[in-house]
Amino acid sequence: MNPSFIAAPAALAAATALVAYAGRYPASQLFGSAITRTNSPRKLAITFDDGPNPSITPKLLDLLDRHKTHATFFVIGKYAQQHPQLLREVSAQGHQIGNHTHTHPNLFRSSPMQTRDELQRCNDAISGALQTRPRFFRPPFGWRNPWLASATRALNLQVVTWTLLPGDWHAPTDAWLIHRIRPIADHAARANHRPVLKNTSGDILCLHDGGHRVQNADRSHTLAALEHWLPRWRDVGLEFVTMDEAVTTPA
Ligand SMILES: [Zn+2]
Repeated sequence: MNPSFIAAPAALAAATALVAYAGRYPASQLFGSAITRTNSPRKLAITFDDGPNPSITPKLLDLLDRHKTHATFFVIGKYAQQHPQLLREVSAQGHQIGNHTHTHPNLFRSSPMQTRDELQRCNDAISGALQTRPRFFRPPFGWRNPWLASATRALNLQVVTWTLLPGDWHAPTDAWLIHRIRPIADHAARANHRPVLKNTSGDILCLHDGGHRVQNADRSHTLAALEHWLPRWRDVGLEFVTMDEAVTTPA
C-alpha cells in the first residue's frame, strides 16, 4: 500500500490542528497582527468581555471607581443596543469600549461575510450610543480566522488578545478565582526584583462582566476577586491602563 494514503490524512489532521491552534493561541500572529501584551511590566490592562450587563456592570463601575481604576470593556453589540445608557455610563467614567462582535459567534466557523457583518453591527451599536467608533476588537472565545485581518483593517480595529484568561465565567468560589489571578501579582513582583530589561511587557487580563449566552449573568466572583486584588496590585506598583494607554503612552 502506498504510504501516502496513510500519511496524507495524518498530515491533514496535523495541519488542521496547527491552524486551529494558531486560530486560538492568544500570542499567535498567523491570522493578522494582534496586541497580546501591554508595553511595560508596570502596566496592567484589565479587560471585561460579554457586557454590558445590567446585573453586574453598574456594581463593577462602582468598584473600579472606588479603586481609581480604568479598564477596557469589549461589549457584545446586541447587548449594547439593549442598554445604550449603561454603555454611556461606562464610557463617561473613563473606561474604553471595544468591539466583541454583535452576537458572539465562533469566528473560526464564520464566513468572510458573517465576520464582516458581526464586526460592523457591533461597531454600529457602539457608535449609535457613544457617537464614537471603537479602536479595538476582541474575538469571541479568542478564535480568529483567515479573513479577520481584512475585516478589522476595513473598520480600523486592532485585535487584542490576553496574557491571562483565568476562566472567571465558571469560577466555583471567590477563593478559586483569586488564586487563578495570582500570576498577575507574581509577574509584577518579579519585574520589581529585576533590572529593567529591554522589550519587557505587561499583562492583559481577560475577565467577564456578562455572559454571551444569557443577559444578567452572575459575575459576583469576578467582583470579589477584583476587590481582593486591586489594592494589592497597586501595592506592587502596577498601574491600571486602558488599551489605548497600554500601547501608546510612554511606560
Ligand atoms: Zn466573549
